Amino acid sequence: MAKIFIDAGHGGTDPGAVGNGLQEKVLTLTIAKKIESLLKNYENVSVKMSRTSDTTLSLSQRTDAANAWGSDFFLSVHINAGGGTGYEDYRYNTLTATSATGKVQSTIHSAVMAELKAFNVIDRGAKSANFHVLRETNSPALLSENLFIDTKVDANLLKRNDVLDAIARGHVEGLAKALGLKKKVIEVGKAQSGSYTVAQGDTLWSIAQTQGVTVDQLKTWNAGINPNALQIGSKLNIGVTIQIYNIQKGDIFWDIEEKFNIKHGTLEKLNPSVNVNTLQVGQTIPIR
Ligand SMILES: [Zn+2]
Repeated sequence: MAKIFIDAGHGGTDPGAVGNGLQEKVLTLTIAKKIESLLKNYENVSVKMSRTSDTTLSLSQRTDAANAWGSDFFLSVHINAGGGTGYEDYRYNTLTATSATGKVQSTIHSAVMAELKAFNVIDRGAKSANFHVLRETNSPALLSENLFIDTKVDANLLKRNDVLDAIARGHVEGLAKALGLKKKVIEVGKAQSGSYTVAQGDTLWSIAQTQGVTVDQLKTWNAGINPNALQIGSKLNIGVTIQIYNIQKGDIFWDIEEKFNIKHGTLEKLNPSVNVNTLQVGQTIPIR
């Protein structure tokens, strides 16, 4: 179980940096919550937040909470200020870039920049500093500074939900890679195996819903079926669904097959009407 502590910087009576109508404490909480929610797509991850609302916390309260919990990684999310532009992150300054923490930093840094490249965000580098949250945490720790609140071009990006999503995704993809987190497979158990007799008003979609299977599976199990001309009283074969996979960003069938040791080509056969070029994040497909 990887225990990841997410610290939304500032909060309560401490707004953090402000500028262009934005408050750092609001943005850090929004991003932290997005990170928390994205981490739910991974197996064996436990997340603890320093705060989940607009509350005041000292730096010691944050690191004490993480240490008492026994975090495996501490991530503090901040927004920069001071007139620059771009993204940067920090490890504790006694640690080198090739230390264990330095390597995690490098992985997260690359993942965040990969997400932010689309928005022309400048890479200010992977840095080190003697910050309280980096020094006083027992576990490896990283503090990220996500764009400048007092720079117009950055602030305009911070006002966009797709940019905040990208920031969160980058952190999570980096964390997953660095900590070896595996994406979740949703076990749906066995759907009923046997047959179904078509009743008046049935559609393939409604049958799929009531049987806990997908339309594609019904098509696979009932070769030649015409979805637009279901015969009332005819019998449909219903197979067995063992595992359903939740499509993640960047997934392609080949990689999913590799990940689950499935013979290449299987997913295409199981999902004949799924367009492999337009897999949607969150879309569920049977994999076995
Ligand atoms: Zn801050």
